[in-house]
Amino acid sequence: MNTGCDQYDLTHLAVCVVCIHLITNGEFDDGTDAAEVAAAGMDRLWGHRALLLDGTELGFSTWSCDGCGDTDHGDRYRAIAVIPTRGGEPS
Ligand SMILES: [Zn+2]
Repeated sequence: MNTGCDQYDLTHLAVCVVCIHLITNGEFDDGTDAAEVAAAGMDRLWGHRALLLDGTELGFSTWSCDGCGDTDHGDRYRAIAVIPTRGGEPS
């Protein structure tokens, strides 16, 4: 039964190590602008939507990061996007 509010879609993502740090710590510093680039990409892709860490290691991937859109190949980790839905409204 649909209760109206408090409905969320959970979307599984494969995100890069920079995104993992941004999601969990809110920052990442490897001496480059990687964190700024990733944060900008994450903001563009997800805006204010909440990303949660799952942390499951997905291994090396040649796909772009679902979190920030970074196209560098590398290890990916599981994260979850929590996207509010409004009872019955098409998403
Ligand atoms: Zn990323």
